[in-house]
Amino acid sequence: MNASTNCQCPCGETRFTARRPALMRIYCHCTICQSFNQAPFADISVFKAAHVQMPDPERVEFRALRPPPAVQRGTCVACGKPAIEMLRIVVLPKLILIPSANIGDAAFKPPVSMHAFYDTRVADADDDLPKYSGYWSSQLHFGRELLSAMLARKRA
Ligand SMILES: [Zn+2]
Ligand SMILES: [Zn+2]
Repeated sequence: MNASTNCQCPCGETRFTARRPALMRIYCHCTICQSFNQAPFADISVFKAAHVQMPDPERVEFRALRPPPAVQRGTCVACGKPAIEMLRIVVLPKLILIPSANIGDAAFKPPVSMHAFYDTRVADADDDLPKYSGYWSSQLHFGRELLSAMLARKRA
């Protein structure tokens, strides 16, 4: 595997680097992800902030679309499309969320582990992944998956 992977927004003007593979990857069907991504759901890879070299701040505009949870959603100023997101949850390290399509090297994207906010889905998903509905259940399972991914990495 490469030591790092190039990441970029759809137009390629906003570029950044991930130095470690994502801890986890989910499909999120929440209404904010739907409108932010202009898609039925978001395919998101989750990284520890320490493992991502952020883009030039001039190139990205961050907005909080709903407090809490404190997700700062970053769009490329050139194409207006999602580039990168920052997530701060108490007790967890700072996280970076990257739309999986923005990650260059497929080896840095783990298999998808769950559907979150499935109750607000636009269409049913035809797969065997666990599906969690509502805020609390989605957050709980997100946190649980994340902690086990971090522990697994520590052991490796
Ligand atoms: Zn762009
Ligand atoms: Zn979402």
